[in-house]
Amino acid sequence: MNCVIVDIDDTLIDTKPRTKHIMEIVLEREIPLEDLGVLTHEKIFLKYASEIQRTQAKKLTAQFLNLLLCKNEAGIESLKFNRPIPHAAEVLQIWENEWKIVYLTGRLNIIQENTLRELEEFGFPTDNSDLIMFDPADWGKGSLLDARKRLLSSITEQFNVIRVVDDFPGYFSAYKQFLIPDRIGLNQSKVHTKKDFFEQGATRVIEKWIQLRDESEKL
Ligand SMILES: [Mg+2]
Repeated sequence: MNCVIVDIDDTLIDTKPRTKHIMEIVLEREIPLEDLGVLTHEKIFLKYASEIQRTQAKKLTAQFLNLLLCKNEAGIESLKFNRPIPHAAEVLQIWENEWKIVYLTGRLNIIQENTLRELEEFGFPTDNSDLIMFDPADWGKGSLLDARKRLLSSITEQFNVIRVVDDFPGYFSAYKQFLIPDRIGLNQSKVHTKKDFFEQGATRVIEKWIQLRDESEKL
């Protein structure tokens, strides 16, 4: 069965307002939304952390990750700040008629229900799709790239993966290694460049989902 793999965060769902909210909890000050999607998390920390907070970088990073990964109530509560990325749901609704959709995310399986609800609420097809999430242990052993590869290996055993869409250039070497023919980088932020995607194995780079809608309508 032919399948398409789609990343969730910042590919289908804009997490910038949520990340801003989480950073504001951790740094106890306002962070401009404009800095998200332009600066890396580390650079935002260096820009806005107080002298004292800089000496607590390790503790605050752990607090940030716990919130980001929804390991506590405040993290789950903050999911309400997420927003759908324009036109992504429209495109997936067209693709769903042709191929199996596999959502592959670094989110932890402890929030599977919340994630399914969120996808549904934003209009993403969930009936004939799979949601593959990280196990909390995946974050502890080896790199996130290795964890992604383990999950890709089981997906590619089950399905013939014809396409992947992701916003993170660092995963494209894995998509290339697993011989996914159409490897689409979604480059919406200014944190990465087109070149970053191509160098790591993307076969094409887009800036907006609407670019995929037009070709999908011809299916
Ligand atoms: Mg992502």
